[in-house]
Order: sequence, then structure tokens, then C-alpha cells
Amino acid sequence: MSMTQTVEDALKKPFGTVYADKMAVARYKDGVWTPFDIQEVKPFEMHPAAHVFHYSSTCFEGLKCHRQVDGSVHVFRLDRHIERFRNSAERLCLPIPDADQVDAMVCELVAECADWAPVFPGSLYVRPTLIGTLPSIGAAAGPSTEALLFVILSPVGDYFSGGLRPLKLLVEEKMRTAPTLGMVKTGGNYAAALYATRKAREKYGTDQVLFAPDGFIQETGAANFLMISEDRIVTKALDPSFLHGVTRDSLLKIGARMGKEIEEREISVDELLTWAKTGECALSGTAAVLGGVGSLVYREETYTVGTGDYGDETAKMRSALVDIQRGKAEDTFGWLK
Ligand code: PMP
Repeated sequence: MSMTQTVEDALKKPFGTVYADKMAVARYKDGVWTPFDIQEVKPFEMHPAAHVFHYSSTCFEGLKCHRQVDGSVHVFRLDRHIERFRNSAERLCLPIPDADQVDAMVCELVAECADWAPVFPGSLYVRPTLIGTLPSIGAAAGPSTEALLFVILSPVGDYFSGGLRPLKLLVEEKMRTAPTLGMVKTGGNYAAALYATRKAREKYGTDQVLFAPDGFIQETGAANFLMISEDRIVTKALDPSFLHGVTRDSLLKIGARMGKEIEEREISVDELLTWAKTGECALSGTAAVLGGVGSLVYREETYTVGTGDYGDETAKMRSALVDIQRGKAEDTFGWLK
């Protein structure tokens, strides 16, 4: 089978279930990082007492490379993702990866695996991951002094099945994660959101849960939340309780350039429901890009957002972002590498 066919077939499978055949790997031991190498993707051998298996010492990143209109492949906002990765590692007391090393791991791996990057609207998802490997189940009170850092790649299509369709969210007033850990991209946060997301899907047929602890909007299990209209974008101001999305940041910069007013502040559920009568709502994230919200379920009632369809302003913002990512519009912000 040709490489193109393999990549095209991958896009028909669920998001993130097909992988390029190579990965970049580095290890931390005795206080230093080893130089990385690029090798075949294969299972790791690890001691059953490895810190990560017991104490969740793991963080990761999710970013994308896009095949450009001219055929070349470029990574989107790699520097911002590396910065967040290093912050996550620091918060979890894992050895902090060297920024230049992660940059080189991603760029060299992507260069070697460029054939795995699909044409638009597909993209090549990049997953740098860091885990604590010290074999010591007595280390609950202490950090892992050994670590494994690897980068894998996955050719992907749409994150939400069914393509560009308006999403349905359950507004959930319980906590998603520990208040100061939300900004850390660590596995435990995702495990903690699974139960609420599955229950919501079973009971209400929702795509995602929008967490709103104490009645104030936070984010969904895998994306930030934006309210969008012709003249403004309103979203929660950055604090440690949720992930500081790179897509959120990009959209706010694009929105400001379009002349929209940017409001970063608290949003109550009441304000959201009032906004939903006329305004648009959307989820932003590397995987989801910008997904329009069609309806909200809150305290057993369903509320239509705007017309109930994928909003016009949302579609405009999404195109503006994607055009930069794939080299159709000029990269005036310097986001591609
Ligand atoms: N919040 C959570 C919980 C996420 O998992 C993600 C996806 N990484 C985001 C927000 C959006 O972040 P980004 O735009 O950097 O992908």
C-alpha cells in the first residue's frame, strides 16, 4: 500500500489511533538528559515499580504540523507548547526538559516523518510526553529522579466525529480537577474528567462537558470555551484552574486584529444562558481547532445557542486560524516553524 493511502486511511479512523512509525526518545538519569535518538515505534520496557504507574508523574503536550499550500510541512507555535510542557514538568517535580532539545526532537522527527502529514483538512498531531521512571514505590513523598521523554506523531482528521457540526455540551457545576492543577497538562486531569463526560454522553447525548464550578464557566475536558459575536470575544481570564490553551491565545490575537474587543474575565452560567439567546459559543483547542456549540444542557433543560447551527463568526475565526496554519494567509504573527 502507498504511503498516501496509509495516511488517508488513518484519517477515517478515530482521532489519535494511528501513529507514524518513528519516535524521538531521550532519558534523564544521574542529573542529566541523554542526547535523543529517533527510533522505530515499539513498546518501552519499564519496571513495574516505575513512579509514573503509581503516582501519575506524567505530563504531555499536543500540537500540530500542517501541510502547507506549497506542500511543505510546518509546526504551529512550537515555542508556546514547549514553554507549557516545561511548566507542567516543573509543577509535577519531574526533570524539566531542555527547550532546545524538545524543539530539536520535534523538528527532526517531523522532518523524517513528513510523508505522514496529511493534506488539509488533515494534519499531523505531535505528542511530546514525559514520565517519571524511577523504580521506587516508596517514592510517594518524593519526586522521580529518572525520566523518559518521547515524541510520537499521529496523522489526524476531525476530532469530533461527524465533521463540522454544532456541538452539544452539558454544563456541569462540579469541579473538573484540583483548583491549582488545571493549568498543568497531566494525565490525572483527563482521567478525572472521564466519568462526568461519559455520564453526560449516556444521559444527554452530549459531546463534551463544560465545567462550571461554583456557577462560573471554566473549560471543557479537552478544550477552552469562548463566547463570540460580531464585535467581541469573551472568555475566562487565565488562572491556575484551567489549561492555558495555545489555540485560545491564537484566536484572541486573530480576533483583536479583526477588530473584535477581547474580554478576559469571569462568566457566570446565567450570563452564558443570556448570551446564548443571540451570541455564538465555541470550543478551542489544538485537536478541536474551533468547534461551534449548538446547544447547552443545564439542570435538565436544553438551551439552543444562537440559531443552533455552527455560527458565522465562529466559522470566520476558524478559517482565519486555519489559513495561517496551512500557509494560505501570511504568517504575520510568526507562528510557524
Ligand atoms: N483545555 C484542556 C483541558 C485541553 O486538553 C486542551 C487541549 N490541549 C485545551 C484546553 C486547549 O489547549 P490548546 O489550545 O493548547 O490545544
